[in-house]
Amino acid sequence: MGINVPSLLIAIIVMSVTLVLPVALVPLRRHPELRTWAWALGINALAYVLFALRGQISDLLSVVLANVAVAQTLVLFYQGICRFQKREPSRWLTVAPVLVIGAGFPFLLDDLPARVMLGCSVYAVQSLACVVILVRRREQTTGRGQYLLMAGFTLVTLTSLVRIAAAASGQMELLSILRTNPVQVATFLVLIVALILFGTGLALMVHERSESRLAHQRGLLEQQNLLLQQYSARLEAANRSLTELSITDGLTGLGNRRHFDQVLRTEWERARRSGKPLALLLIDIDCFKGYNDCYGHQAGDDCLAKVAVALRAQLRRAGDLAARYGGEEFVVVAVDADLEQARQLGQVICHAVAAQALPHVRSPYGRVTVSIGVAVLVPSADAEGGPAALIRRADVALYRAKAGGRNAVEVQVDLLPASPVNSPS
Ligand code: GH3
Ligand code: MG
Ligand code: MG
Repeated sequence: MGINVPSLLIAIIVMSVTLVLPVALVPLRRHPELRTWAWALGINALAYVLFALRGQISDLLSVVLANVAVAQTLVLFYQGICRFQKREPSRWLTVAPVLVIGAGFPFLLDDLPARVMLGCSVYAVQSLACVVILVRRREQTTGRGQYLLMAGFTLVTLTSLVRIAAAASGQMELLSILRTNPVQVATFLVLIVALILFGTGLALMVHERSESRLAHQRGLLEQQNLLLQQYSARLEAANRSLTELSITDGLTGLGNRRHFDQVLRTEWERARRSGKPLALLLIDIDCFKGYNDCYGHQAGDDCLAKVAVALRAQLRRAGDLAARYGGEEFVVVAVDADLEQARQLGQVICHAVAAQALPHVRSPYGRVTVSIGVAVLVPSADAEGGPAALIRRADVALYRAKAGGRNAVEVQVDLLPASPVNSPS
């Protein structure tokens, strides 16, 4: 065959020692079972060093201690698997193998068949136990590394059984440790294969477990990310609606007074920088006190809302703002609108409200109408009164519209006196 047993023994020693390195190189703190498996491989190497020295050292070492080391190797493999599976190892399987070999072998130094039968029975039980616990937890264990271990321990079990059979059949020359014969060569070749399976299987199992943990953590992270995104979207929406609420008039849905003041200031500044005109329309519902008196305040509120709808519908330009100025008065800020454009917008609004034909028996027109005062200014750095001047001018124009019979639009472009103007309504 060309393969001799001593070479195979050396190969097993070299392989065991070599496999300790990669196993021990993995961060052991994160994978404590690897420490146990590294010890198993190291002790296996020691066992085969002692076997190889058969005849050169005492039989107590090369027979008894070597076999105790093999039993301990399998104990450590078993404990490592239990650790990996997070289960308690059986105390019986942890202690008994070493005790049985350690106590039995010294009395069997001259009885090879009995030694082989006792030793291989213990090893068969140990490796079978490893196969059983691996098979039982195969569903819960991720990856394929576990199958390599199962195969390795099955091989060890089968080899042990073959050796028991050889011993039982009395073919002792086949079992002598340093003789090159088919059973020995097959035994050690199988052991080499088993070692390769153990080394790759263990590394794979630990790697696959890390991968699955990582994937799990990634999944959790993604879930949390998704939740966070949902929360932030909700928060944003809540913030938006809060902002919206803070600038909206509750009854009419138009901008509120605060918003109007803000927009007017901003647009005034913008118009001042650009040198473009800024128009303001002050809109007042006619004879509204009479409407309330006649139809009740609830109906008055409904009427305010309907007028607001008609008003808003007439604004065509993005920058224009309609707001409730207070009571039954509304304002429109129209950016970059000259006097004619603003007056036309006022006309359109006036007609739209009248076209709603909301009955109003206390009005000379028999329906709800509005009067509108229009003012336009090109703001300049030295414009007297700032935005308030624009409001005063529109107010004066509104007064004129009221005085002229209501349901009308009046423009006011003349410079105003500095003194405040009384409200026309
Ligand atoms: P003019 O044509 O001159 O504007 O006469 P007017 O009756 O409309 O004006 P006046 O200032 O005498 O009356 C305004 C009325 O608007 C008085 C008030 O009861 C009513 N009003 C103000 N705010 C509200 C409101 O929020 N809801 C209701 N229903 N009525 C309001
Ligand atoms: Mg009024
Ligand atoms: Mg009024």
